[in-house]
Amino acid sequence: MVVRMLGKSVQDRYGKKLQECSNEEIYLALLEMTKSMADEKKGEESKKKVYYISAEFLIGKLLSNNLINLGIYDEVREELAQNGKSITEIENVELEPSLGNGGLGRLAACFLDSIASLGLNGDGIGLNYHLGLFRQLFKENLQKETTNPWITKHSWLTKRDTSYTVLFKDFSVTSTLYDIAVTGYENRTNHLHLFDLDTVDESIVGDGIFFDKEDIRRNLTLFLYPDDSDEKGELLRIYQEYFMVSNGAQMIIEECEKKGSSLKDLNEYAVIQINDTHPTMIIPELIRLLIQKGIDMEEAIEIVSKTCAYTNHTILAEALEKWPIRYLEKVVPHLLPIIKVLDQRVRSKFDDPSVYIIDKEDCVHMAHIDIHYGFSVNGVAALHTEILKENELNHFYKIYPQKFNNKTNGITFRRWLMHCNYPLTSYISELIGDGFKKDAGQLEKLLAFKEDSKVLNTLLQIKNENKKVLKEYLMQTEGIQINENSIFDIQIKRLHEYKRQQMNALYIIYKYLEIKKGNKPKTPITIIFGAKAAPAYIIAKDIIHLILCLQDVISKDPEVNPYLNVVMVENYNVTLAEKLIPACEISEQISLASKEASGTGNMKFMLNGAITLGTMDGANVEIAELVGEDNIYIFGKSSEEVIAHYDNRDYVSKDFYKKDALIHNLVDFIVSDTLMKVGKKENLERLHQEFISKDWFMSLLDLREYISKKEEIVEDYEDRVKWSKLMLENISRAGYFSSDRTIKGYNQDIWKL
Ligand SMILES: *Cc1c(COP(=O)(O)O)cnc(C)c1O
Repeated sequence: MVVRMLGKSVQDRYGKKLQECSNEEIYLALLEMTKSMADEKKGEESKKKVYYISAEFLIGKLLSNNLINLGIYDEVREELAQNGKSITEIENVELEPSLGNGGLGRLAACFLDSIASLGLNGDGIGLNYHLGLFRQLFKENLQKETTNPWITKHSWLTKRDTSYTVLFKDFSVTSTLYDIAVTGYENRTNHLHLFDLDTVDESIVGDGIFFDKEDIRRNLTLFLYPDDSDEKGELLRIYQEYFMVSNGAQMIIEECEKKGSSLKDLNEYAVIQINDTHPTMIIPELIRLLIQKGIDMEEAIEIVSKTCAYTNHTILAEALEKWPIRYLEKVVPHLLPIIKVLDQRVRSKFDDPSVYIIDKEDCVHMAHIDIHYGFSVNGVAALHTEILKENELNHFYKIYPQKFNNKTNGITFRRWLMHCNYPLTSYISELIGDGFKKDAGQLEKLLAFKEDSKVLNTLLQIKNENKKVLKEYLMQTEGIQINENSIFDIQIKRLHEYKRQQMNALYIIYKYLEIKKGNKPKTPITIIFGAKAAPAYIIAKDIIHLILCLQDVISKDPEVNPYLNVVMVENYNVTLAEKLIPACEISEQISLASKEASGTGNMKFMLNGAITLGTMDGANVEIAELVGEDNIYIFGKSSEEVIAHYDNRDYVSKDFYKKDALIHNLVDFIVSDTLMKVGKKENLERLHQEFISKDWFMSLLDLREYISKKEEIVEDYEDRVKWSKLMLENISRAGYFSSDRTIKGYNQDIWKL
């Protein structure tokens, strides 16, 4: 039926047969067809609805995802194949929307998928960044940034009639709404609402990602996270955040009124999930709008407090937003009277400056608004929530113990298994049926095959096939040659010191020197990185530089490169993740314990049969509990020990450097002649110094244990039967990490739709 539709669609459109169409033409036909099918599945407007508001939605390419969710992927794939076309090549036509940065944005995308797939009424609210996050380029072993335009004439965006006036201090703007359909897996269609401004002008961007930060009408929705290293940049972020929440608040009020809400009962019609602190201003904005509607301030505060819930994503103090009052005064002076009342109420109740909204430096703490004036505060993994309760947010926990709850993150299996790993998905279906696609817990049925050598062998074979596919892909897209017979060891995630890519780099140096000494690994190792560094984050960029220099040196050294290779892929994004994860054997999850709130990359790898090498941090702790200690490689200091080091200020990296000859040698290699020849003196020296005098995230503390654990996992790799059992165990236990489970939890405990 559908197949005929595609054939008919291209016939109507182009007056020719499928096999005569170009990939671009087929893509367009599929785009339109999918959009109208999604439209037909628009769900019921139930009384209560969840609004997931977030500065980021890292949705990835949508074609295959939508085909899967609409239940026509297999048919389309087959029909295309019969006509000499490949779905993979058609996917390549689509540009990846660049509306997110990392895990937090990807989580929002997985959640929208699960909300629709569970048949819940819920939409996303965000911004339509024209140039997205920057595109990463490598030049002379350094990261360079350029724009990442993704909006083409035909896209998943549908322009709506909806528009609102958003008031700033000196002027107001009129928004335009674009929607992207969110298809549920064999279920309803919801929407991602992306607000935009017609006057935004991409041509104001000059060299790289440079533009006039004060030209708000023309720059407002150009970039996600524009550089905020100066005041103008910080003001622009406030403009963006307010634009997002004001549109969101107006839309929510309008929709609820339409459904019959008097607004006094707003919380019976709407629940707003605030994803991290960026959308916090929706709280004072809603209060302001309710007051305008004739509700008095006290009551407006009560209503909004019953409607908003907050998700915390980090314990890094520097990542918790606080804005100087004078900045808010320049952009949204009309919110300040409300924020001051909110602060006053806190001060009159609690005699503890650490919970005030406005601190003594006149800065507004966004998370504090969320915690006092939302009804739920959740962390994103069990360990993270415990640390919030016992340490970072302890003073708040003592006031509001009932508000705190945990919702361990999850991932949508539609994208992170069914789409990205078709061979494994088909094989699992063959073994245990299709039930796991809607009920991820059924993956445990695979445990019945623990001793089945045919099944275990097939798992190894599928992994090998995926490795070859990745090799081919990297060859074609980045011109990189990798050895498919080597161990694929992968660390892909934003570049941040707490994630400790620099510790992995020190392992590479270790291995390089070992090979030089003649200690060659039995199976060659390929260590693959993917990571963008924030443009103003100097040390992060130095770490990228170090990795690229190591890649450079090793690729030119015939003594080493038969045994060890380093590859850093350019512009890591969802599309690349979908290629890398199914091919991965060792999943690097090596953050400093207590610092990674959850991680979701760790879950994607586990689901695709990679084995975790990691610390007891974030959701790694829950992975370890699920698979048992024999099926994971854990090393490093515990979160308690790490927290104690910070409390006592007794970690001194220089001591490790001085007292441990091995560590000394590895760190000094950063400024060796070998690296200086391909690298920049300034960058390498700065990084070298950073290791010795700061090492804020304690790489040297865990380095020896990391090296020996990695040697152990690489040794165990040689026993292929053992390894295949590890794979089976990990895949089988991954069901818990389906975002369907997470969303069911949000709905039961928080949203109550
Ligand atoms: C899953 C994902 C992330 C998050 O990875 P972590 O390892 O959890 O930090 C970041 N970026 C992309 C593109 C992803 O798909």
